[in-house]
Amino acid sequence: MNVDADREADADTVTSLIANAAKRYTAAPAILAPGRSALSYADLWQQCLAIGTELRARGHGPRTRVGLAMPAGPEMATAYLAVVTHACCVPLNPGAQVAELRRWFDAAGVTCLLVAQDDAAGAARQVAAERGLPIIEVVRDRRAPAGWLQLTPAGEPVGEPAAVGCAPSDVALVIQTSGTTGQPKVVELTHEGMVSSALSMIEAYQLTARDCTINVRPMYHVAGLIVNTLGPLACGGRVVYAPGFDGDSLFDWIAEFRPTWFSGVTTMYQWWLAHEQDYRRKTGDHRFRFLRAGSAAMPPATMRRLEELTGAPVIEAYGMSERTPIAVNPLPPGKRKPGTVGHATGVALALFDADGRAVANGDIGEITIQAPGVRGEPIGEHGLWFRTGDCGRFDQDGYLLITGRLKELINRGGQKIAPREVEDQLLEHPAVAQAVAFALPHPTLGEDVAAAVVAQAGAAIDPAELRRFLLDRLAPYKVPAFIRVVATMPLGPTGKILRSSMAALCARPADGAIDAPRGETESRVAAIFAEVLGCERVGRHESFFALGGDSIGGARVLSRLMQAFGVELPANELFVYPSVADVAQEIAARALQAEDVTREIDALSDDEVAALLEHEDTRLS
Ligand code: AMP
Repeated sequence: MNVDADREADADTVTSLIANAAKRYTAAPAILAPGRSALSYADLWQQCLAIGTELRARGHGPRTRVGLAMPAGPEMATAYLAVVTHACCVPLNPGAQVAELRRWFDAAGVTCLLVAQDDAAGAARQVAAERGLPIIEVVRDRRAPAGWLQLTPAGEPVGEPAAVGCAPSDVALVIQTSGTTGQPKVVELTHEGMVSSALSMIEAYQLTARDCTINVRPMYHVAGLIVNTLGPLACGGRVVYAPGFDGDSLFDWIAEFRPTWFSGVTTMYQWWLAHEQDYRRKTGDHRFRFLRAGSAAMPPATMRRLEELTGAPVIEAYGMSERTPIAVNPLPPGKRKPGTVGHATGVALALFDADGRAVANGDIGEITIQAPGVRGEPIGEHGLWFRTGDCGRFDQDGYLLITGRLKELINRGGQKIAPREVEDQLLEHPAVAQAVAFALPHPTLGEDVAAAVVAQAGAAIDPAELRRFLLDRLAPYKVPAFIRVVATMPLGPTGKILRSSMAALCARPADGAIDAPRGETESRVAAIFAEVLGCERVGRHESFFALGGDSIGGARVLSRLMQAFGVELPANELFVYPSVADVAQEIAARALQAEDVTREIDALSDDEVAALLEHEDTRLS
């Protein structure tokens, strides 16, 4: 154990972990953000105390569950640490829709909501109001140091003040993972488990107070909450909180903050590689101590190219909501092995077969772990183990290889989606009789979401309309990029829909069979798709995402459409209209709307136009 980890090991709750760090690293910068001054460890702890005390005065403590709906950024980090050190924190996805939040509030048992006063957080506020839950507002001040929050006046305390003091076995954090049943699966992390994770991080990556990282991962997932926050802040490091993954600014932030390490998913790193010139130009001679890759498999070719580009060792790791890290490749001078996730880290790890027998060395079995704060179930005669639902095997040197998943989750660039959740929402549509969601192989995301649907007798299904319907119910990344309307579903011998044979349904037709674009607009849209996707031809009904597009390519398509047609489509438009024919139709509809407006303005008198402009000026000022 390195010296810093050793010093932290006396903490048994997240509260004492952060309090100890504040005592030890008092004036050192803890929380940073682009364009802001840094928040010191002492000030961070002051913030935790102020917000925590206020929560407790209102009756919220370790046994109540505080939903946290804040946009990504330094204030979300402070609010998270304040809540988690004093009560039980339930971070919410700011992009979640009302229907998702309703299910999640109930599943997680949210008892009050913390939001930023200047942030609409409309969906979360609506759900809290429906349930009659108290809403506490904090004020963000962009002129203050990064992460600084002010409380709005307390008002009357509600009920008894909550008891002070969190215990190691108390649940500190409740996060959502995509349960295979489609119901949000509640993962409860105890103080003991989180402290163990933070210490294992410090140990595995030899983190110290000299380290600095930039967080671009969501603050409702362990990647943002533990890997990029608890681990580095427990040992005096600096964390720069970005407002999310912003391709245009990331390299500038690297040049400005000179982070010693970075944690990303494969798709992010593939984006770095696609912009290697920019990376070199903007970051110059900057060298990371290491780059961590997790949440999804890192292809050895990507790892090799990334190491060539950055000169930094790429450390592939394996973890999950219930426990991270589980396994990590060694840092130099240890040997990292591409295609593997290294060795067990802070956990006992074993592979069992379906009958609960330990598998022979080199054979594939389910990865199971024993870790502090993680509840296991009995496996044969072997005691209690937590089943990860992932399969793996050890190579001849004892490095773990992940070979697949037992569970049916779709892994879209590290974001996990339960097919059942998508299917349930598809079936809410009156025209849908049967629905199945499944993973479609994708060149940069690894997998993307696709669905097949059967229409109700006499009904017709329009995939674009169905997608719009889903966008009101699911976060955009869960909405299938590709929806195929089929007459019947392929069934297995027991009558179950054969999910495994679904991907073949979506296979790209041979070039000759591609439905060519019709008319000028479709041809120009198809040319833009083809250029961004780097393919020769695009059929009029092919989905941008199914052809290999991702959100970064999508942004490029939208900006090229803007240049070509002068039409500004909203950012998630490609999720609704992913094919050439769909996009061309939308462009035509918008052009018509614009013509109508021009015609209406032409019909107005000069005085009416002047009055309109004056009204508009007042509205904008
Ligand atoms: P989550 O709970 O959303 O963090 O998802 C955890 C799941 O991501 C694991 O159970 C694995 O299926 C997958 N995963 C995490 N890290 C890796 C990795 N390095 N390689 C392959 N799959 C991974």
